[in-house]
Amino acid sequence: MKIRIVRNIAFVAAMLVSAHSFGQDLLAEQAPMDRQMAMIDSVVLNRLINADSFEYPADDLYPEWSNEYAHKYTNAVIPDSLVIDLTGFCMPTENTKVNDIFGYRPRRRRMHYGLDVKVEIGDTIRAAFDGKVRFVSYQRRGYGNYLVIRHHNGLETLYAHLSKKLVEENTVVKAGDPIGLGGNTGRSTGSHLHFETRLLGKALDPALMFDFPNQDVTGDTYTYTKPKQKVYDPSDPDTYYKVRSGDTLSRIAVKKNTTVKQLCKLNGITTKTTLRVGQVLRLY
Ligand SMILES: [Zn+2]
Repeated sequence: MKIRIVRNIAFVAAMLVSAHSFGQDLLAEQAPMDRQMAMIDSVVLNRLINADSFEYPADDLYPEWSNEYAHKYTNAVIPDSLVIDLTGFCMPTENTKVNDIFGYRPRRRRMHYGLDVKVEIGDTIRAAFDGKVRFVSYQRRGYGNYLVIRHHNGLETLYAHLSKKLVEENTVVKAGDPIGLGGNTGRSTGSHLHFETRLLGKALDPALMFDFPNQDVTGDTYTYTKPKQKVYDPSDPDTYYKVRSGDTLSRIAVKKNTTVKQLCKLNGITTKTTLRVGQVLRLY
């Protein structure tokens, strides 16, 4: 991304140089040329930087902009701490009834990565912040109609079980823009909005930021702090390792600052087990 900006600047600089030689006579009697150039330069530069942040929201945090996966940031480094700006929010729905909270569901033996808010079929669902739609899809046995928006504050929000999607991938949205209609698609019993907040793919409890009963955010900012004691979380690429070609248990142990013994114990394997490329190993 950085390389692209530099290339754009070089291009604009070339344009300015040619504009310069063309308008030289006109400008000769005005303010010193270098100061004018500097002024034009900073205006153009700011415009380029702003355009770039709209093109790739939270560019500095994410390893890539891809429409290929809902969440897959195996090369992402989740910062130890990050202040997330919540000003400029819009509640995704006016509904206030939370049907189900974030967290582990012992009965189903699986994580619930979002918050379920009661909505009626056809209710307007709105973008939580300014940003850009990164992923739009349909999952018959899961999310149903759903979409993911990446925001400038570093969060990605996910909206699932929609009856209708109103935006496409790469659509730039403002907080409050209608992005879909409430529904009951996918694995859902009763119409509701399944709402997720993720940081580099890692699911964070939306209730830490969004207070649906009071239709407000919990503060102007939310500070994410990496937990001291790591636990295996399939939504957190820091807590697992995906086997690559040429990997051995000892090599992975060194790379990930753990031991072969620990890897074997956590993953129910032995030192004799053949690793497959793409296999996911728990690190915690
Ligand atoms: Zn849900």
